[in-house]
Amino acid sequence: MALRIGTKPKVCKCKVHVKVGDRVIILSGKDKGKKGKILAVSRKEGKVIVEKLNVVTKHVKPTKVGQEGGRVKAEGAIYACKVQLVCPECGEGTRIAHTFLEDGTKKRMCKKCKKVI
Ligand SMILES: [Zn+2]
Repeated sequence: MALRIGTKPKVCKCKVHVKVGDRVIILSGKDKGKKGKILAVSRKEGKVIVEKLNVVTKHVKPTKVGQEGGRVKAEGAIYACKVQLVCPECGEGTRIAHTFLEDGTKKRMCKKCKKVI
């Protein structure tokens, strides 16, 4: 892929460091400081959807007969670099270290309490 200078990249280049089911804390935006569970991850876009956070109102038009249009509240995607994993052991937003178990499997480790999560 060629690099274009002077144009803003459409997607954030940060790697998605979280998985579905992880608890995270929001680092920026209107829900800053709030914690929630990851519902979906889009690695392609580098975004995640966090349960009940970053809720946006979508305007839906009725597309079928009998279907109601209107406003629907749904969780909006947020860049993964704007969330931080919450360690289930110490309950704090933390950075992740990778560690290998004795059998060679790669595991994530909390940088604060050094517990494998
Ligand atoms: Zn921890």
